[in-house]
Amino acid sequence: MYNPGKNLLENRVILVTGAGDGIGKQAAITFAEFGAELILLGRKQEKLESVYDMISKMDTPKPCIVPFDLELCEEIAYSRLATKIQEDYGRLDGLLHNAAILGPRVPIENYAYKDWEAVMQVNINSVFLLTKFLLALLKKSDDGRLIFTNSGVGQKPRAYWGAYSISKYALNGLAKLVADELENTSNVVVTSVNPGATRTKMRNAAYPGENPDSVKPATNLMPLYLYLAGPDSRNEHNSFFSSEDDFSK
Ligand code: NDP
Repeated sequence: MYNPGKNLLENRVILVTGAGDGIGKQAAITFAEFGAELILLGRKQEKLESVYDMISKMDTPKPCIVPFDLELCEEIAYSRLATKIQEDYGRLDGLLHNAAILGPRVPIENYAYKDWEAVMQVNINSVFLLTKFLLALLKKSDDGRLIFTNSGVGQKPRAYWGAYSISKYALNGLAKLVADELENTSNVVVTSVNPGATRTKMRNAAYPGENPDSVKPATNLMPLYLYLAGPDSRNEHNSFFSSEDDFSK
């Protein structure tokens, strides 16, 4: 069992996407509990404010809120975000690519192109853009972490899951490609994580007939997420983790 120290993430600036709900919300709160300074990126201001309020009550640095729609923002907005982080923090020690949308579950021949585009925009194109513009800031960290969130359906295609499944395949490729590029050229450790079945809004939409209590809560994932965000994963470059892994022997 991984037993992280209370100050594991002290002096680390970490950006979490989709920080307003689900796994991203829990990760942001947990990273703050362990001392990190959080940049909370998400689509809905009110959800981010609620996470901000929770973190503000802790004895930890105040987070910053970034309302940002990963589907609708143009490339220039990503570039401006990087400039703002450079001005405010001068570096980034962690980037958790967490936000995603499920999209419809229908056969390919019935899959509307606008749905395909939306899923691809949030789940892979925005991840490319954030990585492209924020990599320079991660390289300024002594010990940067770039974490991609994958899924079982990104390892084995799932009939009717269309763009979601394919976007996770592409994400796997992007993570490996970036890891390869950074192998000998930076201190940035690149990892991927498949959280597995977790009790969230997305899981509920995917499996409406399931009793949510039969699925693990996001809190169960946090030892793994802390491991990936903190210094103990220094030797895990280009590794893929799943929630079932006994990751910290
Ligand atoms: P949720 O749907 O509960 O949360 C997703 C988060 O992403 C929300 O905060 C959501 O914001 C945000 N988001 C969605 N679209 C956008 C957008 N256009 N711009 C900005 N933020 C956006 O999902 P989970 O927490 O379940 O999933 C987190 C990650 O884990 C995803 O990458 C998912 O694919 C992966 N995963 C989850 C599993 C599970 O069982 N839960 C299993 C395997 C993988 P808003 O609240 O406004 O919608």
